[in-house]
Amino acid sequence: MGIVLSTLPTEGEFVNWTTPKDFLKDQSVVKYMPLGILSLASNIKDKIKILDPPTESWTIEETIIRIESEKPDILGLSAITRRAYSLKQILRKIDVPYVVVGGPHTTNYADLILEQGADAVFIGQLADNEFSKIWKKPSGKIYCNTKINDINMPNRELLNFQDYFYDGKVLFKAEKRMPMFSSIGCSNRCTFCNVQSKRVQYKDPKIIVDEMEHLHKLGSRSVHILDDNFNINSSHLSSVLTEMENRKLQIEWSGRGQVRMNYNLVKRMKDTGFKRIHVGIEALDNDILKYFNKPQKVEHIEKFCEVMNENDIDVLGYFIIGSPVETEIYRRELPQKIRNLGIKFPWFNILFPEPNTEYYKSLLRDGYYKKDYWGEFMKNPTPNFEIPYPYGKEAKKDVIKYVNKLIGEFKE
Ligand code: SF4
Repeated sequence: MGIVLSTLPTEGEFVNWTTPKDFLKDQSVVKYMPLGILSLASNIKDKIKILDPPTESWTIEETIIRIESEKPDILGLSAITRRAYSLKQILRKIDVPYVVVGGPHTTNYADLILEQGADAVFIGQLADNEFSKIWKKPSGKIYCNTKINDINMPNRELLNFQDYFYDGKVLFKAEKRMPMFSSIGCSNRCTFCNVQSKRVQYKDPKIIVDEMEHLHKLGSRSVHILDDNFNINSSHLSSVLTEMENRKLQIEWSGRGQVRMNYNLVKRMKDTGFKRIHVGIEALDNDILKYFNKPQKVEHIEKFCEVMNENDIDVLGYFIIGSPVETEIYRRELPQKIRNLGIKFPWFNILFPEPNTEYYKSLLRDGYYKKDYWGEFMKNPTPNFEIPYPYGKEAKKDVIKYVNKLIGEFKE
């Protein structure tokens, strides 16, 4: 039986103003391996082909031609909400006997996806066990409960993995950087965030360090832990460090996590090769942090930066600009505050109302939006849809101008 697993092409995806265009130009050099479908593929025995249209810059039509040329019995599509338009187009036009859709978009839109033509929809972040029985061709909604330690390592060799090496053309240098996951989910509830799983699942430290070693064998010289929040649980992080220490593993690694953590672990992280931490700082003002429901205060951020600087670990700090509680004084003082904290790589985003977030719901509740834009869009996705800026066109121009100024100021 032939199976094709594919991500969705970017054509027609909804406009997201989070990252200003100047940054996006640079960002297009970063290619993300579709680790989810590479993991699914490593759990099934049948002949399998992985396609990744965004990396190939394929249009919707090109993607359809490419899929159909494989003549698969089964097509699995990994869907993110931003690509609801290309998903609908492919479901409408593709000629494959059985089509199943998985990925984060299915959590809230399974019924719509079935109406759009999918035979089955897999709901749940990890679907490896359920997908391994795909030859039975189930129909309708399939709720997936695979445990994180029951999945195999993503088989990166099913793609030309060298194409995905990232050497650091945006902000920092990282030789042949490759991402991996050590956990999924985040129990925090930041209002702007669309991370769906509030129940965190952790991989066994042995499995994590096996994967680090495997990436090193593939040629990577910089392993990035791309979790939703890799340092949220001290005992888990400590166990990973112990495993690295026992194996005397010395590699450059980095991770995406949070400010509040057990600082006693930082020296051990540094000693195993930890180089850079990516964290959502979001704001240097307690009122704004509270507005975001961020589980940190400015004092925590200050302590965090101090410890990282002492240990010579670079901080890549994400900031969100454009909340309604932001003041002119805050904007004026922000660049100097960032310098005072020694944040090496500040990354500036504009607050964006992602679908299904508390922030978007608050805009509806508080009357900034008079109708449910996302609800309408999901029912009938149009290409390149752009949701109106909630605070008006002038405010949008103003925030973009300010963020571009910040980016310019911190460009090396
Ligand atoms: S800490 Fe990060 S991943 Fe967790 S809810 Fe907040 S923004 Fe999302």
